[in-house]
Amino acid sequence: MLSDHQHQNPVDIFVIGGGVNGCGIARDAAGRGLNVALAEQGDLAQATSSASTKLFHGGLRYLEYFEFRLVREALKEREVLLSAMPHISWPMRFVLPYHRDMRFESETPTSKLLSFVMPWMKGRRPAWLIRMGLFMYDHLGKRKLLPGTSTLDLTQDPAGKPLNPKFHKAYEYSDGWVQDARLVVLNARDAEARGAKIMVRTKVVSAAREGDLWHIVTEGPHGHADHYAKALVNAGGPWVDQVLRGTIGIDSREGIRLVRGSHIVTRKLFDHDKCYFFQGEDGRIIFAIPYEQDFTLIGTTDQDHKGPPSQAECTPEEQDYLCAFASKYFAKPVTRDDIVWTYSGVRPLYDDGASSATAATRDYVLSLNDAGGAPVLNVFGGKITTYRRLSEHALEKLAPFFPGLKEAWTAGVSLPGGAFKPQETTQVTADLARDYPFLGAAWTQRMMRHYGLDAREILGAAKSAADLGRDFGATLSEAEVIWLMDKEWARSAEDVIWRRTKLGLRLSAEQVATLESFMRHRLSDGAETTRRDMTS
Ligand SMILES: Cc1cc2nc3c(=O)[nH]c(=O)nc-3n(C[C@H](O)[C@H](O)[C@H](O)COP(=O)(O)OP(=O)(O)OC[C@H]3O[C@@H](n4cnc5c(N)ncnc54)[C@H](O)[C@@H]3O)c2cc1C
Repeated sequence: MLSDHQHQNPVDIFVIGGGVNGCGIARDAAGRGLNVALAEQGDLAQATSSASTKLFHGGLRYLEYFEFRLVREALKEREVLLSAMPHISWPMRFVLPYHRDMRFESETPTSKLLSFVMPWMKGRRPAWLIRMGLFMYDHLGKRKLLPGTSTLDLTQDPAGKPLNPKFHKAYEYSDGWVQDARLVVLNARDAEARGAKIMVRTKVVSAAREGDLWHIVTEGPHGHADHYAKALVNAGGPWVDQVLRGTIGIDSREGIRLVRGSHIVTRKLFDHDKCYFFQGEDGRIIFAIPYEQDFTLIGTTDQDHKGPPSQAECTPEEQDYLCAFASKYFAKPVTRDDIVWTYSGVRPLYDDGASSATAATRDYVLSLNDAGGAPVLNVFGGKITTYRRLSEHALEKLAPFFPGLKEAWTAGVSLPGGAFKPQETTQVTADLARDYPFLGAAWTQRMMRHYGLDAREILGAAKSAADLGRDFGATLSEAEVIWLMDKEWARSAEDVIWRRTKLGLRLSAEQVATLESFMRHRLSDGAETTRRDMTS
């Protein structure tokens, strides 16, 4: 039996998981006036949502699988998202060099059709088919911000310069880039600003129905806590089925397929701001993307993942595969010696019985279970690009349990720091550089692309770098670290250098150790962050 006190204040929705989907749903629900709590077992975006290729994209290659619904929704969504967060996302042009040896993955519906009607192609991707795919890509979703496809002469265009001279021709098309981990934390901040309670380092250890409510037990920095909720959302990403069957104890046949994707980061391999879309002779594709001003990001792989989701890493074989793949295109071979960092994540794909990891659907499935009273909504799959639409659909599914629920609202509402138009980015950046001349160009751009208008709150009245307090190296100041601890739930150096920023690419082990010790001291001194934890 529950005491009256325990039933007094159930939240409306309790979200398990602080990835892009959990935080997106929490923000949407809080903005509709619902009382929301979210628990993340580690750091926000610590799992798949910081390990993506970081593209707001329709997924050109999914056209070969006839995934038209997913591609259309994602294409339409690109511009909605680019407009809502012009600081952490921006348009990118993708250069797709053409060569007649490029092949399809043999089991796509398109390749099967083509091998039936044009068997002499022997699995090759003809140029007209790529052009047709790009034509559909240009027209399936509405485009206002993003320019359409064009053809490039690689013998003349600067994009041809770093490539093997055997490539003469390329297509160029548009997609978007997003700082994936920052997207998650900004959704969490906006959710909190709208009343949600965000708890990090807080694992949901059990959830059980008690009458019309869920009784949820968490294990956090201050031990066990009980929570009550009218509805539960399981946005556990790669753990979704573990949470469903283990933590909640629901016997379900629904499952996920864990598909690992790894990336390598090298020192800058080319000097322009376009990305490359490389097609392999094995039918797969990889991207080579300008990254964090001085680096190139190359990925991804597609491998069924057998171990626990938390143990994903880019294996030596995957590193060799990515180097060899990219070396087929670049004039200068890419070798393991060029690699400065690798990362790996696990896609939680809905198990649709596809025979290969590459072919498994990237679409999402929301399954509602209200068999025993209070509802639980399980989130399977989903892309960074579709997180906002997924959140709207999640609220649609839960609406019957919350009569009078407000309408969908997130399209067109900016995330914290992003209240300006994409077309104003150059001006907003120039204004920041003018008001804080000591930053210089690279630091200004980093502040803009991480914090947008909030950069001014971090920098305050500073007239010089020294006014920002301690210098942790690579332009990371005490003022920024304190902001990340107080406003963005950063608790460890790792949170700061790999998720709130990517300064781990530049800081030495010694500098990271100094940062860690500074943060530990500040937490144990009972600063703002600790007080926020205490109220959780
Ligand atoms: C290699 C790769 C490349 C990708 N590239 C792109 C791309 O370019 N564009 C794109 O749109 N999408 C891309 N994706 C897809 C996208 O990254 C994911 O679909 C998305 O991040 C999934 O988010 P999520 O919130 O569902 O899962 P996650 O981010 O994994 O979040 C789930 C969270 O739940 C927490 N959790 C689990 N169990 C518990 C518990 N019991 N208590 C508390 N917390 C718990 C976990 O700690 C985790 O943080 C890519 C994915 C991969 C792997």
